[in-house]
Amino acid sequence: MPKTLAIIKPDAVKKNVIGKIITRIEDEGFKIAAMRQMRLSADEAKAFYIVHKAKPFFQGLSAFMSSGPIVVLMLERDDAITRWRDVMGATDPAKAAPGTLRHSFGFDIERNAVHGSDAAETAEWELNFFFKS
Ligand code: ATP
Ligand code: MG
Repeated sequence: MPKTLAIIKPDAVKKNVIGKIITRIEDEGFKIAAMRQMRLSADEAKAFYIVHKAKPFFQGLSAFMSSGPIVVLMLERDDAITRWRDVMGATDPAKAAPGTLRHSFGFDIERNAVHGSDAAETAEWELNFFFKS
């Protein structure tokens, strides 16, 4: 079964909406194959978002992602990557469609509540980053 990596980001954990997001995950037909609450160090956040290292928002993003606890989840269902990105909505909550998680829980383009892998190869790399067995 296809898998993707989801993260409930520090802003959503602070807002106390872990349960609401997990309920949505279940309602959308995903199986939670693994899940863990943790906190990334600044260096770990940079390593995770290394693909964005040349972007102007890289430093801010790494600081934000290490600013508090996150919940990392291994999600399973058919077409998991695309389906999870549909449930998240657009990167910028202001542009995310009503009913998407970023529309409901995001604050701005950085503090946008959730993460999802964007392709099969990135999903494999990201799942391995958090759930090395
Ligand atoms: P994610 O990878 O977290 O699922 P995404 O694939 O929708 O989000 P990316 O372009 O991969 O978006 O950006 C990664 C993350 O970097 C975004 O989710 C957001 O937290 C942050 N980000 C993206 N663009 C900006 C920006 N212009 N300013 C500040 N932060 C940004
Ligand atoms: Mg991305």
